[in-house]
Amino acid sequence: CGIVAYVGKRQAQEVVIKGLKRLEYRGYDSAGIALLNEGLSVYKKKGKVTDLEQHLKGKALNSHIGMGHTRWATHGEPNDVNAHPHYSASGKFAIIHNGIIENYSSLKQELLNKGHKFLSDTDTEVFIHFIEDIKEHEQCPLDEAVRLALTRVVGAYAIVIMSLEDPDLLVAARKGSPLVIGVGKDEFFLASDATPIVEYTNEVVYLNDQEIAVINDGKLSIKNTANLPLTPYIQTVDLEL
Ligand code: GLU
Repeated sequence: CGIVAYVGKRQAQEVVIKGLKRLEYRGYDSAGIALLNEGLSVYKKKGKVTDLEQHLKGKALNSHIGMGHTRWATHGEPNDVNAHPHYSASGKFAIIHNGIIENYSSLKQELLNKGHKFLSDTDTEVFIHFIEDIKEHEQCPLDEAVRLALTRVVGAYAIVIMSLEDPDLLVAARKGSPLVIGVGKDEFFLASDATPIVEYTNEVVYLNDQEIAVINDGKLSIKNTANLPLTPYIQTVDLEL
């Protein structure tokens, strides 16, 4: 299973699909992509990254921000609906997630009681509904809602979230599952390991557990779940492809 995200001048679709192929060795049962053009478009398919590519054929998706996912199902069978990305209740946010939310059923019950409806059987869809619910309740920015959600979520995760309202924003976080940030010139990459990144830049930041990365308007900032701002530690990777 793997994660790839991109924001910058390149076509996001190309970077993401190419990156997902580089992560294929990790194993998966389905793949999906979210791109922001006129709307927040999500395409997902059970099967290989090439099946997703086939599904995307003929769709002109000019987008400079996007994220893709390969899924290794833990909650909900491998099918098109359970594949990631997943939308929040309003459809304004989309998430990709590697890992497991252990307390998802109690969170889901809480949200069902509030009238939430779920399309998939995944823990991940509960996660993004939960984040949006906090955002609306607290009237706070997305990254703060993510932080607050993470203080209540039990489990392992690498996540990336995109917003329909902000074409320059990626919010990412990790605990237990890996996540690497590639820092290019006026562009950023996120991936489960450095292999999708190194053909574009060798400057990377390894996100640590309990850290949240916000890429906004061409700037990267990192804080932890205790809300302490951190200085990104940029390392140079030397990786042969
Ligand atoms: N728990 C999530 C799911 O079943 C994510 C699995 C993964 O790591 O790909 O959809």
